[in-house]
Amino acid sequence: MGKGFFNVPEPVNEPVKSYAPGSPEREAVAKQYKSYYNSSVDVPLYIGSEEIKTGNTKNMSLPHDHKHVVGTYHLAEKQHVDKAISTALEARKKWAQTPWEQRAAIFLRAADLIAGPYRAKINAATMVAQSKTIHQAEIDAACELIDFLRFNVKFMTDIYAEQPVSSNGIWNRVEYRPLEGFIYAITPFNFTAIAANLPASAALMGNTVVWKPSDHQIFSAKVIVDVFKEAGVPDGVINVVYGDPIMITDTVLASPDFSGIHFTGSTFIFKEIWKKIGENIHNYKTYPKIVGETGGKDFIVAHPSANPKQVATGISRGAFEFQGQKCSAASRVYLPKSLAEETLNHVKEDVASFKMGSPEDMSNFITAVIHEGSFDKLAKYIDQAKADSDAEIIAGGNYDKSKGYFIEPTVILTTNPKYTTMETELFGPVVTVYVYDDKDWSNTLKLVDETSEYALTGAVFSNCRYALEEAIKALENCAGNFYVNDKPTGAVVGQQPFGGARASGTNDKAGSAQNLLRWVSPRLIKETFVSPEDYRYPFLG
Ligand code: NAD
Repeated sequence: MGKGFFNVPEPVNEPVKSYAPGSPEREAVAKQYKSYYNSSVDVPLYIGSEEIKTGNTKNMSLPHDHKHVVGTYHLAEKQHVDKAISTALEARKKWAQTPWEQRAAIFLRAADLIAGPYRAKINAATMVAQSKTIHQAEIDAACELIDFLRFNVKFMTDIYAEQPVSSNGIWNRVEYRPLEGFIYAITPFNFTAIAANLPASAALMGNTVVWKPSDHQIFSAKVIVDVFKEAGVPDGVINVVYGDPIMITDTVLASPDFSGIHFTGSTFIFKEIWKKIGENIHNYKTYPKIVGETGGKDFIVAHPSANPKQVATGISRGAFEFQGQKCSAASRVYLPKSLAEETLNHVKEDVASFKMGSPEDMSNFITAVIHEGSFDKLAKYIDQAKADSDAEIIAGGNYDKSKGYFIEPTVILTTNPKYTTMETELFGPVVTVYVYDDKDWSNTLKLVDETSEYALTGAVFSNCRYALEEAIKALENCAGNFYVNDKPTGAVVGQQPFGGARASGTNDKAGSAQNLLRWVSPRLIKETFVSPEDYRYPFLG
């Protein structure tokens, strides 16, 4: 930016479209869904300008219709991962020197493409690949992704504007260099927006990236690649590989030029990756930045002063939207005895009214879970709860994988506050409720704090200010995103920067300047206008 201090467009959150019957957006997405359903896409690896078809392929099918195949994707071998790394390093030479306003323009353009011509495509692809309802697809693949792209551009300029003071005769300035090397982005299945944001945020700051999407999101990842290409992301800036995650990761982490990882996924995998980075630490040219957002066991705790209908709605939406497959989904609930019956009756009514099926039928609120592994795990926990004497299933409890991976939204009531489903992340439409004595409010807060290894999201419902204040203090380290009288899901970029600590991640807050700071290495330049010519200081006489 040699010729002006440019202001970027002020970001505002993308309005969520309604998709009400008869609306043009509903018609467009329904048509696109049909076309994808009948398609046979062949997704290559994207390395530099090349689209590589290795011939070693896997099918892509729909979670809600698993026998139906909508295409294939090609699996990388080690040589392709090596090539992705060398291509990223070569592309860095130009990209890291590209003026920031050009990088900004590319990603702002990507946002506008998604808001306009790609909206139906990215939403329909997310319905097909991840079995999201149209509403869940719209708030993720369209709105959240658009927000990430637009807000991050603004945050980037805020970072660049952060400069040190200068005293007489000198000028101090900081430039925010991209990291030396390349970034590795590993993304989960559950958010198309996260899949795009993890490589894009690092690339926006001038880095080049090797991106490994989840095997269960590749159908919508391809739309992201199409958008980035059309927006003008240069070849080699974001290279995409799929296949054996261990082989790909080991190959990436063996490179001396590995300079950072942007990961979202489960806790165990992240800890394994961290360990491998540690084992390789002597090989790296720089200390790699490690950013990971991982699992959660998110809670709702209600005080006796809470409104039971509001608590129930928090549970029904917070636990079951997108089949509970949000890292932020409520999965353990603490109710006071005085409110439990009324609250749970409302939840049971809600659950009974949910329609379950394909997202193509837009009246469905619940669709399928992502894959057979997840289905089988959830079924096992449900069966266990049916057998255990300290647990009882009070809603749902059925499952069927004959056509799609359908698990009924399930409520387990337990008398054991440390029951396995109060502690373990299940990542599905199963919520466990523990009822406490009203007089045990303070102890219950302690229980919430000590029950799980995670600290991602949590919600407290109360109409008593003293109780709220007590909960906010007692649960200080329990959640990186803490909600008062609201469900613990649905963070909006720019409004509720997202992330948690403990076993939930490094809490670098996706969708904030704090996250972007991880992808730069500041260089301070001190310039002296008139250099001294004598080493002697006055005190030497
Ligand atoms: P996952 O951990 O199974 O997979 C995440 C990514 O890691 C995928 O790309 C996968 O292929 C890859 N992977 C799997 N095994 C690997 C290995 N051994 N080495 C390297 N990479 C490997 O997670 P998922 O099922 O896709 O997503 C669900 C998980 O993600 C949940 O635990 C959820 O809480 C978490 N999540 C967290 C956040 C957050 O912001 N905290 C957001 C979304 C999802």
